[in-house]
Amino acid sequence: MIESRCGILCSECGYREQMGCGGCVNIQKPFWGDACPVKSCAEDKQHAHCGQCDAFPCQLLNQFAYDEKQGDGGKRIEQCAKWRDKLV
Ligand code: SF4
Ligand code: SF4
Repeated sequence: MIESRCGILCSECGYREQMGCGGCVNIQKPFWGDACPVKSCAEDKQHAHCGQCDAFPCQLLNQFAYDEKQGDGGKRIEQCAKWRDKLV
């Protein structure tokens, strides 16, 4: 069961309750901005998550995953690969 377009596990996100966020796949726009380029890109390509994309893991996804402040050291990319390979 996928939880986001980028591989973030929304069920483990501390902001979810705090910000009243329904989770990436259930929302139109993220609480932190007008639009998320990763979410928009994946949805425009009709991918359930980035792991389904030919360009995976693209530069944009890497930029988000390895962002100094908001990144997770690539964890979300690994998660997308797991979803792709149906390991989780
Ligand atoms: S960063 Fe974007 S794609 Fe990832 S969970 Fe948040 S809104 Fe969804
Ligand atoms: S891997 Fe990159 S190009 Fe592919 S859907 Fe995700 S953000 Fe878009």
